[in-house]
Amino acid sequence: MEKITPNIIFNISNVISDEVIKDEALKIMRACFQCGTCTGSCPSGRRTAIRTRQIMREAVLSLDEVLSDEDIWLCSTCYTCYERCPRNIPVTDVIIKLRNLATQRGFIKPAHQKITQILADTGHGVPLGLKNNSDENQWSKSRESYGLSKIPPTTHSHPKAVLDIQKLMKLTHFDKLVKIELKSTNEEIK
Ligand code: SF4
Ligand code: SF4
Repeated sequence: MEKITPNIIFNISNVISDEVIKDEALKIMRACFQCGTCTGSCPSGRRTAIRTRQIMREAVLSLDEVLSDEDIWLCSTCYTCYERCPRNIPVTDVIIKLRNLATQRGFIKPAHQKITQILADTGHGVPLGLKNNSDENQWSKSRESYGLSKIPPTTHSHPKAVLDIQKLMKLTHFDKLVKIELKSTNEEIK
């Protein structure tokens, strides 16, 4: 194993951690003293490979690996680590920021890309399964039993609003960021 020497530490850049702490609220990230309370509290870590303390160490040391590390996507954003960190580091928000940076560098996962495509197409990340005859939809019966409209007042009821969502995606270049296709024509989403 390669020995860590002062020279190696000197060669570590601050690019990633500098990006993260551009957000004033995340500056405290550098106060992490690697106690491991976040890892010990993480419900996702009981089922998956995510080790929150390790992610924090890589983020603080600005190691490039952290952005391509699949583990940053295993966090369920439950905020337990955020509440328990003895240094009051907003750990969950650091992870979300790392995901944003990872996406900007092209490390978006195909499953997430698929969800953003569904969002662009329907206005929902998880759209309801709509059958032509809404009486056939089990969930619409359930909604009615609670005194709600058969179909929720979202893009499912207002399909033209999908164009507004696509317009926002185009204006913010979100479509290019996550590499999805907006199926409406330029004319339609002008
Ligand atoms: Fe660092 Fe806080 Fe996690 Fe401890 S709980 S390792 S201080 S982020
Ligand atoms: Fe684990 Fe994410 Fe929950 Fe933190 S917010 S405890 S990293 S699942």
